[in-house]
Amino acid sequence: MAIDTHAHIFDEAFDEDRDEVIQRIIEANINKVVVVGFSKETNNLALELAKKYDFIYPTTGYHPSEANDITDTDIIELESFINQNKVYAIGECGLDYYWVKDNIEKQKWLFNEQIKLAIKYDLPLVIHCRDAVADVYQILKGYKGQVHFVMHCYSGSVEMAREFVKLGGYISLGGPVTFKNAKTPKEVAIDVPLDRLLIETDCPYLAPTPYRGKRNEPAYVRNVLNEIALLRGMEVIELEHILDQNSINFFNLD
Ligand SMILES: [Zn+2]
Repeated sequence: MAIDTHAHIFDEAFDEDRDEVIQRIIEANINKVVVVGFSKETNNLALELAKKYDFIYPTTGYHPSEANDITDTDIIELESFINQNKVYAIGECGLDYYWVKDNIEKQKWLFNEQIKLAIKYDLPLVIHCRDAVADVYQILKGYKGQVHFVMHCYSGSVEMAREFVKLGGYISLGGPVTFKNAKTPKEVAIDVPLDRLLIETDCPYLAPTPYRGKRNEPAYVRNVLNEIALLRGMEVIELEHILDQNSINFFNLD
């Protein structure tokens, strides 16, 4: 089996053929998919998919790009959502200075609120970080030993990956590790301690080679797995087994 730890199959990119995408998940022997919400609407969509398919595990949270619209009331709503529904992580949440950087304080507030919820409900945290690695690191450092987190679709340096691992974090790699010129993700794939590594697709985005530029889907997590096995000089089946166990442990999957 294999596990895709970060997918958005509620996305409208799958509206035309979602059943076929689900069928290919089964055919590819992917037996668990973590479906990650990032807004009020998508948190509900992730939950609906999980009710329909027992191999789908939902998460719930507010993405930093939602920050301008989120108020205290929405945080209270998020907390009651967590109380009322079985979710496997908080997130994706974090900081993104690529798209918007005139609301940094609001983004930090939103991130901190979700970290506090993760600690309170003993849930892992799925972190989105784009052009904001120093601030994400500083914030997480303030909660060292209290919060269980993964840097999703990690795109930073080997050195920063080591720092996140020192804070107890996991590093998740997706499609970019398969790209021909992706020197740094390949170095990270080799350097991360095996017990802190996860894999994902982040579909519909970031399709791995040979699908680069096309729509991504969970079945393609096998391309990510195969590439990392090659880079680390391991048998695919051996790496698959370790990564499955990491995913089950991290998200507390049944
Ligand atoms: Zn995502």
